[in-house]
Amino acid sequence: MLKCLVIGSGIAGLATANSLQKAGHHATVFEAYSVPSDGVGGFLTVAVNGFDALDTLELKEAAANLGFSTPQMSMYLGSSGKHLIDFDYGGSLPDGTTARTMTRSELYGMFREAASHRGIRIEYGKQLATVKEAPDGVTAVFADGTSAGGDLVVGADGLHSALRPLIDPSSPAPRNIPLLNTGGIVDSGLVPAGLPDVEPGRMKMVFGKRCFYCYMQDPEGRIWWFANPLQRSSEDPAALDHSARKAWLTQLVAGDRTPMATIITATDGIIRPYTTSDFPSIPSWHRGNLVLVGDAAHAASPSSGQGASMAIEDAVALGRSLRGISPADIPGALSRYEKERRSRAESVVEWGRRNAAPKIRGQFKRVFEDLVLKAVFRSLARKTADNFDWVYRHHIDWDAAETARAR
Ligand SMILES: Cc1cc2nc3c(=O)[nH]c(=O)nc-3n(C[C@H](O)[C@H](O)[C@H](O)COP(=O)(O)OP(=O)(O)OC[C@H]3O[C@@H](n4cnc5c(N)ncnc54)[C@H](O)[C@@H]3O)c2cc1C
Repeated sequence: MLKCLVIGSGIAGLATANSLQKAGHHATVFEAYSVPSDGVGGFLTVAVNGFDALDTLELKEAAANLGFSTPQMSMYLGSSGKHLIDFDYGGSLPDGTTARTMTRSELYGMFREAASHRGIRIEYGKQLATVKEAPDGVTAVFADGTSAGGDLVVGADGLHSALRPLIDPSSPAPRNIPLLNTGGIVDSGLVPAGLPDVEPGRMKMVFGKRCFYCYMQDPEGRIWWFANPLQRSSEDPAALDHSARKAWLTQLVAGDRTPMATIITATDGIIRPYTTSDFPSIPSWHRGNLVLVGDAAHAASPSSGQGASMAIEDAVALGRSLRGISPADIPGALSRYEKERRSRAESVVEWGRRNAAPKIRGQFKRVFEDLVLKAVFRSLARKTADNFDWVYRHHIDWDAAETARAR
């Protein structure tokens, strides 16, 4: 049994701890924050490939009770309200499970509860500062002066990973995407009466005149939305108080033929806008007995809708590579893990980058917006939904010796 030190208690860290335990090892999670992050963050979507990986961790049923099913999305032009195209969000698993949208906090809570039931300890207030490597193991040293020893350190510590430069100091910095992210949820009691055109479970994505945004309704009647305003050096929307933030967003969507301005006006807690980044490629995901998972290795733009799903896939792939091995075999197992995951993860990052591009172009070149976007989506419509199978139909067979395959 390996003693594994997992750094970071986000989705990647908690999924990895569960997977390592399934692989027969002992995992402890070390989190920099002093308390659990319940209630923190916005919402995300777990796609069907994420559910497939959750199934391996015996957590699919628990996750399928979270949030609400969002199997479809539709694209519109804000200027005219014109419908561009409909997409499936990855179809469904054989048992009918579809993509689901949920708060990050709900998903985090589900993983944390599973970890607790499975006897996985999470230690808070443990910010990784450095690691010490020796022939007989590794020691994680924390900012509070304490340390923990083990056989393997897993960096699940996100976009600004402390472990990544310790694996390779030449690792590049994250790449900025010039889009901000904000959003909110309108309680059903506050949803304005007669709001047109909001179909439960369908994500309505709008290339607005000045901002890309999405809104959808859950079965309880609440409206969930996010917006991606262009990041401008002349503005600092994160510094705005709530009512100024609401006014700023409302004027960004005011000229569009959609209900977005009404939805924003009805929102009580609008998330503070924050910048987005991705992480295309780093020289190595592992060295010796150190390895990266999730955003620490390969963060994708939120426009991929794959960050959480890819983190869960990483967790399963890493656990599978480490099944039943002894400490001497760790470097070989980590090589197999990276070989299995790298090309897929980097392709998803690039796909997310491409998904983000029309959101940016549409705002820079508004005059051409209709023409450009119609052409893009006409060409997309010619392709079949099967073109996205490589993203969504991914299955990691825990019991197979070889790598993952398409479902
Ligand atoms: C706006 C937005 C929308 C998104 N939408 C989607 C979506 O639709 N679908 C989807 O699948 N994904 C989405 N994602 C991405 C998804 O949330 C993440 O990619 C995913 O949860 C994986 O995160 P992670 O666990 O690798 O990193 P994080 O969630 O960043 O967790 C890292 C953890 O490590 C801790 N930590 C950091 N440094 C240290 C240290 N030195 N020592 C100890 N602990 C440390 C942090 O406190 C944190 O708890 C979205 C992300 C954003 C920002």
